[in-house]
Amino acid sequence: MRTLVKNGTIVTAESEYKADILIVDEKITSIGTNLEGPFDRILDAEGKYVLPGGVDNHAHFEALNTDGITTNEPYATTWVALQGGTTTIVDFCTNEPGMNLVDSVNYRLNVRAKGKVAPDIAIHACCNDFTDETVGEIKKLVEMGVPTMKLFLAYKGTSLYMDDSKLLACLEEAGKQGMTMMVHAENPDVLDKCRNDAAATGHYEPKYHYMTRPPYGEAEAVSRAIRFADAMHCPMCIVHVSCIEAGEEIRKARAEGKAVIGETCPHYLVLDKHKMDHPDWHIAARWICSPALRDKEDQDYLWKALNKDWLSICGSDNSGIPQAQKNWGWDEEHQRCDFRMVPNGCPGAGDRMNALWTYGVAAGRMTRQKFVDVCCTTPAKLNGIYPRKGTIQVGADADLVLFDPDYKGTITLETNPTGVEYNVFEGLEQIGRADTVLLRGSVVVENGRYLGEVTEVVADGITYQGCTSANGKFIPGKPYGLGYDLLKRS
Ligand SMILES: [Zn+2]
Repeated sequence: MRTLVKNGTIVTAESEYKADILIVDEKITSIGTNLEGPFDRILDAEGKYVLPGGVDNHAHFEALNTDGITTNEPYATTWVALQGGTTTIVDFCTNEPGMNLVDSVNYRLNVRAKGKVAPDIAIHACCNDFTDETVGEIKKLVEMGVPTMKLFLAYKGTSLYMDDSKLLACLEEAGKQGMTMMVHAENPDVLDKCRNDAAATGHYEPKYHYMTRPPYGEAEAVSRAIRFADAMHCPMCIVHVSCIEAGEEIRKARAEGKAVIGETCPHYLVLDKHKMDHPDWHIAARWICSPALRDKEDQDYLWKALNKDWLSICGSDNSGIPQAQKNWGWDEEHQRCDFRMVPNGCPGAGDRMNALWTYGVAAGRMTRQKFVDVCCTTPAKLNGIYPRKGTIQVGADADLVLFDPDYKGTITLETNPTGVEYNVFEGLEQIGRADTVLLRGSVVVENGRYLGEVTEVVADGITYQGCTSANGKFIPGKPYGLGYDLLKRS
């Protein structure tokens, strides 16, 4: 199958130019003008930007809570990522109950995700059951194409929580094996103190979620993680940076030459904490995610930080928690909502690039090159899947977005589905959209609509909007990703 994408303006992280692209089967084989036929199919990209397919560094599908219960969307909902221009998700694999990480990765790929994941998928290991075996598994994970791992420094009292000795042990081994470590950085004792203080004074409404996750608790854990990683010669990726204080720790560390890469997310860039002030707690609960949404000043800082490369990635932190599970926030005994019982997370895989283009590129806050860099290229480099993913060049997978900059709309659940019953960006203006999306040479989105069949899919008794078949492939990551280049320089 020979496909020609003609008349478009190609945008990469480095440059922008008019050229045609020849795709043979799943790969880009030539870029230029007057490319020679015959062609089986011609896609006219006149008036559109041709972008690399998005790489979402931060996706949670079929995440398991500490009891092993699935707390968010099944893989069948991953089609929303394709519709939003993301062709590769990097998904977190936690431990299946009683299973080590290596077996859990195999189970996730061969059972959970098999035939259900619509975009391509790479994996971050995510330890929530640290045992004597865990450190020893790092080498094997890297060999399996999982060169990244996330540890939670928050949530003390649950199996997700990693104390400093576990963190140090994992960092030391990861640094030897070419693995990049990622952390959810919030100080658990700060959180516990604030949350208990709120409850002790009778404050349980959703807004106490943001009032009890202070920026200093995030900044402290960021600083500690960076220092430990530096001492253990392991690159560090700080995910979902939400505030000025945490961003400043990363900015300073990078200025000192430390191997740290920061990620922020669309909801921290375009939404603020007052979403949680909604009088109906069921609705307010939709914006409960961690770290919490912050203030307008933090949003301004995060845009600046992306532009200055203090932060380098925009990941969705997609965690589409259905309303029925958000409603776990109801305390039946006391007949009130308790923010501490609401599961944390927001859906966002479908709107990551829409939000960043509208409020970044279209608003004049970010260049198109920077957009491609933070949405596609740098995440691919971090995860060891570049240049197969994350750029447009000969030999790369033909994952392309024909992006229409003239589209104007308003985000609704109808136009921008998430897989669950709400969209946290609902009501926001949208400028530009992924008009046509190719995944390894196959057209999967046309006129902004996913081409596969979408129907009601029931998982654990909850109905989601899911696809009925899917062709996503596991993309193994190579070790010694982007963070190791920084390490060499330091
Ligand atoms: Zn996350």
